[in-house]
Amino acid sequence: MRKCDVAVIGLGLMGSAALDALLDSGVDALGFDPVGPGSNRGSSHGSCRIFRRFNFENSNYTALSDEAHAGWMRLQNDHGKTILTPTPVLEAGLPGSRMVAASRAATIGKGLPDPVLTPAEANRRFPAFDLPDGWDVVVQDGGAILRTEVVMEIMRARAGDRVITEAAQFEPRQDGVSIRTANDAFFAERAILALGPWLGRALPKLGSLLRITRQAVGWFRPARPASVEFGRLPIFILERGPNDVVYGFPNFESRGVKAAPHNHGPAVGPDDWDPPATDRELGPVSEALATLVPGAAGPIVDRDVCLYTNTPAADRRPDQGEEFIIDRWPDTRLVVCSACSGHGAKFAPAIGQRLARLATDPTFEAEPFFRLSRYSAF
Ligand SMILES: Cc1cc2nc3c(=O)[nH]c(=O)nc-3n(C[C@H](O)[C@H](O)[C@H](O)COP(=O)(O)OP(=O)(O)OC[C@H]3O[C@@H](n4cnc5c(N)ncnc54)[C@H](O)[C@@H]3O)c2cc1C
Repeated sequence: MRKCDVAVIGLGLMGSAALDALLDSGVDALGFDPVGPGSNRGSSHGSCRIFRRFNFENSNYTALSDEAHAGWMRLQNDHGKTILTPTPVLEAGLPGSRMVAASRAATIGKGLPDPVLTPAEANRRFPAFDLPDGWDVVVQDGGAILRTEVVMEIMRARAGDRVITEAAQFEPRQDGVSIRTANDAFFAERAILALGPWLGRALPKLGSLLRITRQAVGWFRPARPASVEFGRLPIFILERGPNDVVYGFPNFESRGVKAAPHNHGPAVGPDDWDPPATDRELGPVSEALATLVPGAAGPIVDRDVCLYTNTPAADRRPDQGEEFIIDRWPDTRLVVCSACSGHGAKFAPAIGQRLARLATDPTFEAEPFFRLSRYSAF
């Protein structure tokens, strides 16, 4: 039986970052995942995600973004491949938009200029837009296009033969964790479960809390191509009403404008990746582009599906839900990670460090808002 100090089960962005942090600090670690970079499964698949420094979800995240940014830059400098492409982030919403107000509030006290623009100013600066008078608008610096596929390739290459490309089943024991794949048996002192949407299946007590949703993604052939090129169009997040948020990227890959709804799609299981996004699912995105970003509007030229894994609101501390779980699993030598409510990717180096420390440093705890103890079920 092969032994290691720490096993990482699931090598999406979170598990890959945890394995990278462990190996970097000399820990005898192994990672397990049947799929690799370039697959179209797992919440980390695809070429890009949005990196935001200022997060409307929680102002605590600015420090986490800064920590992650340093991690991304280290990786980028070590490997000479672009991981972050700096890009402004435009956030806009109906008058009184809570999203825009929270994003603006996250910059207060940072010694930065006020990010507010009038819709007319934003439309002039970024001519693909036609934001209505009266809308609230901020344009934040510190954003970037995060090249997730590049990250996955680099991290997998760095881990080398420490990756077992098989699905793993685990069984907690008093002195560690037994792990089985189709071809081998392993024993780890501790194991990190970074299973994305499959986490609830592995830990049914958590499964009853987690909600997985199907998220449609589309690429649109722009009506005015010059207005949506990288450098002309920012990353954008538009709140058209409660539970109606659309985000998008400039056409940086010559594949069209990638745009998608951020509000939750229908609840599904972790193996429900088909069919690709339908015209009906992408209808609200087409409509949002036609009215608010007419330069980007046009026929759908490509489509995808990804899964969000959402946590409910806590019942032991104030939290609106959709907060990550980064903690030890009670009475075992397991560490658990659920970091996908649609905006976890950007934090992967910071979350990976936390997972690695939870597995190797008994005195370490993640921030209270990431702990399981925020739920009375734990
Ligand atoms: C449509 C969409 C848009 C998003 N946009 C953004 C964004 O703009 N910005 C941002 O920061 N974040 C964004 N996110 C969120 C981000 O992508 C996630 O936070 C992140 O990918 C979660 O990674 P993960 O490692 O937790 O899960 P996953 O990537 O799902 O990894 C889980 C891994 O576990 C593996 N696995 C499953 N079962 C086993 C087993 N038995 N043994 C071994 N391995 C197993 C799977 O193969 C998989 O690779 C978005 C997510 C989606 C779906």
